[in-house]
Amino acid sequence: MSADFTGAVVLITGAARGQGRSHALAFAERGATVIALDACADIATVPYPLATSDDLAQTAHLIERAGGMCRTVRADVRNGDALRAAVTGILAEHGRLDVCVANAGIAGFGPVCELTDAQWATMLDVNLTGVFHTLRAAAPPMKEAGSGRIITIASMGGRAGTPNLGHYAAAKWGVIGLTKTLALELAGSGVTANVVCPGTVDTPMVHNPAMYGLFAPDIEDPTREDVAPRYRRLNPMAEAWTAPEDVTAAVLYLASPAARHVSGITLEIGAGVSARMQ
Ligand code: NAP
Repeated sequence: MSADFTGAVVLITGAARGQGRSHALAFAERGATVIALDACADIATVPYPLATSDDLAQTAHLIERAGGMCRTVRADVRNGDALRAAVTGILAEHGRLDVCVANAGIAGFGPVCELTDAQWATMLDVNLTGVFHTLRAAAPPMKEAGSGRIITIASMGGRAGTPNLGHYAAAKWGVIGLTKTLALELAGSGVTANVVCPGTVDTPMVHNPAMYGLFAPDIEDPTREDVAPRYRRLNPMAEAWTAPEDVTAAVLYLASPAARHVSGITLEIGAGVSARMQ
């Protein structure tokens, strides 16, 4: 994707690692100034380590090494005031906000009837309310400027039910409803709002002992090689996982001038799973 983002200011949440880092690098390589936001802290109900301050610094380092511009912000998307402050800071420093990618998210597992109140509440708080906080802060200045691109990251898990991911699926379905509503509310303002739904992506969210144990409960200490064939079976294209850059390509498209008439869609990067859905 060769769109030029020179001069654009891009806010990306959850940018310390994984897909968020990939999006951040791609925008910066294309000339944008990237504001990389991340909480850099573990969350009690999340059964794998989350990103660290070093991870966020590494995102900035990679961008600067590529000749790009990056500012890091440490903030938790569960804190609405922190997101407002982040956007206020961006406007004060750069005078504009062109693209917002609401990417921060967590995973967790358990059958619906066994989820604890804390698992449910935390999942909804981060994966749905966190997106709400991000959009509520980012959309008004874009509307006032008469241009902007909002991209939320849901999941193929937000397009169907998935055993053991009821709370995750509920939050991601919610992100789709929230984004489509915002797309309508912003229609005609010059601001678009769209959703990207990745399938399984090769990031730390997927590659950790808790997730491996879910996919291979019959194997003691399963490895990446053990779980790959089981992931592969999940989709028609028989790919175990896609690269973060595959999701980035979709994000760049939705942020590009080519997508100026595209708003309210869910763009699925599901390795063929979309063909099984209505
Ligand atoms: P990841 O490597 O775990 O990255 C997620 C990032 O979000 C981490 O840096 C994490 O670090 C940050 N984050 C989590 N909670 C946060 C909070 N409350 N405030 C601010 N930042 C927070 O996973 P990923 O695969 O890149 O995930 C990116 C997005 O894609 C998520 O929304 C995820 O649900 C979605 N997705 C992933 C997959 C997949 O297979 N990997 C599939 C479909 C959709 P900290 O908590 O330390 O800040």
